[in-house]
Amino acid sequence: MTDLTKLTIAEARKGLAAKDFTAAELTGAYLTAIEAGNPALNAYVAVTADQATEMAKASDEKLGKGEAGLLEGIPVGIKDLFGTKGVHTQAASHILNGFKPEYESTVTSNLWRDGAVMLGKLNMDEFAMGSSNETSYYGPVINPFRADGSNANLVPGGSSGGSASAVAAWLCAGATATDTGGSIRQPAALTGTVGIKPTYGRCSRWGVVAFASSLDQAGPIARSVEDAALMMTSMSGFDPKDSTSVDMPVPDFAAAVERGVKGLTIGVPREYRMDGMPAEIEKLWQEGLEWLKAEGATVQDISLPHTKYALPAYYIVAPAEASSNLARYDGVKYGLRVSGKDITDMYELTRAAGFGREVKRRIMIGTYVLSAGYYDAYYVRAQKVRTLIKRDFEDVFNGGVDAILTPATPSAAFGIGDEDMANDPVKMYLNDIFTVTVNMAGLPGIAVPAGKDSKGLPLGLQLIGKPFDEETLFAAARVIEKSAGGDFAPRRWW
Ligand code: GLN
Repeated sequence: MTDLTKLTIAEARKGLAAKDFTAAELTGAYLTAIEAGNPALNAYVAVTADQATEMAKASDEKLGKGEAGLLEGIPVGIKDLFGTKGVHTQAASHILNGFKPEYESTVTSNLWRDGAVMLGKLNMDEFAMGSSNETSYYGPVINPFRADGSNANLVPGGSSGGSASAVAAWLCAGATATDTGGSIRQPAALTGTVGIKPTYGRCSRWGVVAFASSLDQAGPIARSVEDAALMMTSMSGFDPKDSTSVDMPVPDFAAAVERGVKGLTIGVPREYRMDGMPAEIEKLWQEGLEWLKAEGATVQDISLPHTKYALPAYYIVAPAEASSNLARYDGVKYGLRVSGKDITDMYELTRAAGFGREVKRRIMIGTYVLSAGYYDAYYVRAQKVRTLIKRDFEDVFNGGVDAILTPATPSAAFGIGDEDMANDPVKMYLNDIFTVTVNMAGLPGIAVPAGKDSKGLPLGLQLIGKPFDEETLFAAARVIEKSAGGDFAPRRWW
């Protein structure tokens, strides 16, 4: 039998339906791959082998009765940010030490309803704060890609680094992820995988540990555009338990994948051509535009004039919301408790011991920008900038543009412990230069592998769409995936 872990979700669905193999065999193949690969990659923080075996058995029964759901028997990994009932849920933080929720997040419930099988919980940056997966309490995740001729470990991006690494290294068929400023799209781009951040409100945030509630969205990371569409169809949908979830029908996203781009207008924002942008990123972008043109799209130069304010405004809004959301971790209700001489002392000792450096930095920035006297100067202003950013996009879409093409990241994967980034958090923050605007405006964005850099590392392009028009993104991303035609699989060393 061929290696079952190499199948895409679409191929595995066909194989299961044709009874070429069972869900139990497929899950078994993944559990074996995790056992072999996880010590080197550190993508999983918890493996739920018994649960996976049970779920696969139930899927085989359903398949046998012809009652298969959309993802029946498909083994997936879950980012540690999603609440999973009775199972390790710590947002890769020490402060949630030992936390096992009493509830299941809506997005994961949707996946289980459709027959998906849970392999375990995936590593991530602590509370989803980071771009390299180095802020995790569980240590860094390793990218399955290495530069040609090098044995140096590279980061998989973040914060959904465990999701991206596990998908790329065949340790799950697909994974859930979340994106507040780029955390689905940047790790997808750095690992040769496909990641989509849906429109804000498309997926329920209920049961997902909150980072910055007005920006957070769940979405999938997968090995093909079609696989991402299949997962997103399952994950999406209105949820009365999340007041920002939008009551709209969920299209069959996979049906849109082969729609093509004939007649579409693709915008190219001039402000995304950054000073000092590497020539290979510029080349990739031009190639992407040529591919879309060759399939019948029209390319149009556009302007998004407030782009340069997006990253600074994000680093006010996101920490502000985080400082408020993370106030609940004080040693009383969840996870870690460090005893002190009185209750205030207990709060302080618990928070000092439970949060990592980056999380503390965000809490301090957030508390500062929300404090009396600074609130108007920082927070209120950042919200105004946010409105302007949103308006830039509205103007462009109202002017007839159907989707926007940009690079996904300013570079390929970098080294673990990269000194520049370790010493200067702002350098790390710049990883999200092309992705944060999309969160600020609440729009959907997809990252798709499009080429490789001179060292053989994957590079991605990003497509940004109109609100709730993820279908156009899937169709255009598929054109890029097909045209790039590349082999975006890592060479196995682990
Ligand atoms: N890298 C960004 C940050 O650190 C975005 C993270 C995310 O999208 N969760 O805030």
